Order: sequence, then C-alpha cells, then structure tokens
Amino acid sequence: MNKQLVTGIHHVTALADDPQKNLDFYVGILGLRLVKKTINFDAPDVYHLYYGNETGSPGTIMTFFPIPGIQKGRHGKGQMTVTSFSVPDTSLDYWLSRLKKFKVNFTEPEKRFDDEAFIYFEDVHGLGLELVFNKEDDREGYSYGHIPLEHAVKGFHGATLSEEGYERTAGLLLEGMDHKLIKEKGNRFRYSASGKPGDLIDVLCTPDSMRGLGGNGTIHHLAFATPDDDTQLQARQRLLSKGYDVTPVLDRQYFHSIYFREPGGVLFEIATNPPGFLYDEEKEHLGESLKLPPWVEPERGKIEKGLLPIQMNVDKFKD
Ligand code: ZN
Repeated sequence: MNKQLVTGIHHVTALADDPQKNLDFYVGILGLRLVKKTINFDAPDVYHLYYGNETGSPGTIMTFFPIPGIQKGRHGKGQMTVTSFSVPDTSLDYWLSRLKKFKVNFTEPEKRFDDEAFIYFEDVHGLGLELVFNKEDDREGYSYGHIPLEHAVKGFHGATLSEEGYERTAGLLLEGMDHKLIKEKGNRFRYSASGKPGDLIDVLCTPDSMRGLGGNGTIHHLAFATPDDDTQLQARQRLLSKGYDVTPVLDRQYFHSIYFREPGGVLFEIATNPPGFLYDEEKEHLGESLKLPPWVEPERGKIEKGLLPIQMNVDKFKD
C-alpha cells in the first residue's frame, strides 16, 4: 500500500481586521490558546496570530492575518466558507449560554448526517464558524482556566468548502490528496484522510451562490498536513504530475509549505508537521512574546513600532 502523503487538516488561515478583537474572540470567547504571535512573513507590518490546543497540534490551528481597515469580504462559492470546531456532545447547554452571555448570535441547534449536532455563528469579523457537539472526539481540549476543561474546544471538527460542483474538487482530494469519501447527503459530500474529527472536509455544492470574495471575515487558505519534508516533496511531485501549479517549498518557521489552487478556486496548502510551535518557545510560554524569523530579526524595532499593541484579556471572559 502506498504511504499516505496527506494525513488531514494542518491549519486554517483567515483574514480579519482588528487584532485585539480577534484575540478577544478566539482566546476570550472560544477559549483557544494563543500559541504563536508572529508576523506575516510576506507582509511584516501585519501580525500572524496562531491559535490552537496546548501545543498547537495539526488539526487544531486557526490562524489570522489581522489587517486594520481591511474591506469586508463576501462569502460564496470557490471559498472555504465554514470552519467547524469540535466540542464535547455534553457541552451544548454550556456553549449556548456562553455565546448568549457574550452576545454572539447563533442558529438553533441542528443535526446533519442524522446525528451530528451543530450550531452556526460568525466571529467578530463575520467569519463563518460552527461548534459541532461531538461524541467521538478523544482529543484533549485546552483551557486558560476561564472555561472548564470539560467544555473546552478540542480542535477542528472540519472545514466546509462551497463549490459550484463537487466533482473536480473531489477528484483532487481522492486521487491527489489521499482522501476518501466517507459520507454524503443532499448537496454535502464529506471526505477525509483520517476519518477522524479534525480532518473532515465537506464539499458543499452551492451553484446558485455568488462567488466568494476575499476580505475581512473570509478564509485565506486551508492547509493540509504531511508527515515530513520527504512526504511533502512526494506530494508536490504527485500534484505537479496531475497538472497543478504548485509553489516551491517555503519556510514558514513552524512548518514548511507548498501552495496551489484547487479546481473550485480555494487556495490549498500542504504543511509539514515538524518542527511545530515549540521550535522557538517553551510549551509554558507559547504565544507570550512576538517571535520573528531570523531573517527579519534585525528589523525588530521597526516592526514592533508598526504593529498595534495587543493584550490577553482572559479575565474579562470568565463564565
Ligand atoms: Zn498556511
């Protein structure tokens, strides 16, 4: 049997406006850990904020480029439109009352694929999110203490891509990215490399929707995980042989990345699991200081002056 080159979701990266609002929403309200505070390596005047579980494991990492004043984007096809987080199935009442308390509007709980209970809501920038109340997720959550650990977010449940049709994206996932079709119902087709919560990719056919436009409150790209540099090069070669226009390997400090556009228009990345977020900070201190890659470290003074100061406000978001 061929080795799996792509094993599931690595991270999701989205666009936002105000970085403090972003931090307050993801750490304060949702309770994710800030695992890294750095800059966009392609635009050093913009933060790159990474949130996740205790160590920022693949399948838990939500990242943002907060660009103050950025124009609002539009949700639509050719876009990853929903990021779903997994919480325990016994935590429904807890999360409904918590979201109410912090004035986050959400839809009534619904069920999908017969027994998958979820609610939909949007973050402070308009990004589409879900909480999925999951029986099958055995991952540990993380808590700063302001949310009881038994209710904490465990990481992603999965990602929803809105597409004109599912066929071409499905072809890529099945033949080029080691995914299998695991469920389908109506216009929703679910694929996964591992079959587990954290790695579920729903392709939703929405031919009548407008095309999505990038901007505040939209996903920038979806990154899949590969075990190491070697499997990444093999995955790159396989995609090139299928005609995809794949970038060379880029050094993202905490992982190495390649990027390409899937047939429906969503930007995909394949990122290596190593070296990870403990590369330049101890586990106890993840996210505490602004980390810069060595090649921009000489400009630290100038970069720090250009960034809006942000602070952790966990105490304001106690139950
Ligand atoms: Zn990325």
